[in-house]
Amino acid sequence: MKLVRKKDPSTVVGSLTEQEVCIFKYPNDAHESKYQPFLKKLQDHYNNDKRWLICDCDHTEQAILILCSLGSHLYARRRPNSTHNEKCHFLNRDSVHYKNNNQSFLPKKSKKLNVQFYKNITDISQKNHATEGDTTQRLNSRLGSLLYRALEDKDLNVLSTAQQSYNAIYYGIEEYIEETPISIAKGLPLSNFFYRVFNDTFIEKAIQNLKNPKDWPKKLMPYCLFVTPVKVAIKDNSIQSSFRPYMEIKIENSIKLPSGRISLESDPYIALFTMVLSGNNTPLFQDAFAIPVLSLSETMPVESNYERDALQVLIDEIRYKNIPAKITKPLFVKSTKDNQTYRPDFIIKLHNKTIYIEVLGSIEESYLEQKMKMKKIAKQNCDYYFSVDYTANQDIIDKEMSIITEALYSLSEKDYSHDSAKIAIA
Ligand SMILES: [Zn+2]
Repeated sequence: MKLVRKKDPSTVVGSLTEQEVCIFKYPNDAHESKYQPFLKKLQDHYNNDKRWLICDCDHTEQAILILCSLGSHLYARRRPNSTHNEKCHFLNRDSVHYKNNNQSFLPKKSKKLNVQFYKNITDISQKNHATEGDTTQRLNSRLGSLLYRALEDKDLNVLSTAQQSYNAIYYGIEEYIEETPISIAKGLPLSNFFYRVFNDTFIEKAIQNLKNPKDWPKKLMPYCLFVTPVKVAIKDNSIQSSFRPYMEIKIENSIKLPSGRISLESDPYIALFTMVLSGNNTPLFQDAFAIPVLSLSETMPVESNYERDALQVLIDEIRYKNIPAKITKPLFVKSTKDNQTYRPDFIIKLHNKTIYIEVLGSIEESYLEQKMKMKKIAKQNCDYYFSVDYTANQDIIDKEMSIITEALYSLSEKDYSHDSAKIAIA
């Protein structure tokens, strides 16, 4: 199997060993120790925007397989119209998925957002078409992408001296869905099936809407989308909405979070979830994607309890000292000119300076490795770079945080001179 350029498939840029071909075809059978290095190879190929592989079947024409990404994982799909020989693994397979459990949910922002959430799951005619794992993961990537894009496009991931309004996030997501506009199928806007408030009135409205959904494609199971603040996650698959404080919402599939490092103890959250009707018209909550937020009143997204703590310290200081800074939680990866991806935990803009803040929350080797790589790239793309080690004891954390807040204060001073600020920061 050969790795080729998408732009020029006749140029071979690498190949897969016999063992790698085996993993490529049967990723679920591969041992972790072989799977991870292989995945890295595929990822490198994908990241360099090459993306194409030539199948090893001995068909007269070159059969091409395309690498694609979905949330944090890769998959290879058959190129439409390419023919494979009768014995080929890819003859009747549309795609093979490669899961990456070590990585966080780091979507690249694409121009088009596909929200055909249940296209495969409930397509009655092809019920056994895809495996459960694939479809659930796909769906959750879509819920996650939708939530991330709405948050970013509506500036809901930005905090400044002004308090974020309590309702901003719900109206923001609604506006995003209306403006974009996203449709479930032709002539069927998602906004007709989205509810900003999760309470009895709107659940009843949604039930009525789902009983007889106008223009809904026959093959697709009708669904609605809800957004809700989540006070606490009760179990792996249950949440408690703060709109309906006494009701436990059971989610059929396990609740997805942006990263494997986030546990369901990172509450509060904002959750986007789907509702369908079961046979006797009772609502069933099927899939959910949840992202931790600063608080239930200020729903700026964060990705861990550590980040929440650091953000609270920073924003309190900015407001107390009236520092004209803006803190952003970047939700999509950024790329350098040579296509290296990175994403700081927080970006602060102050006057014309860019400050990156990194919140270290683990001493795990793979995590630190990733952070070190990020540090190298990030440093070249900002004016100041700070990291706070949240695995250290509280005295050290406090000290590191006060270095940052003092630097912000000195940067905000009008008579600030470049050199003196540098000394304060060092
Ligand atoms: Zn083939």
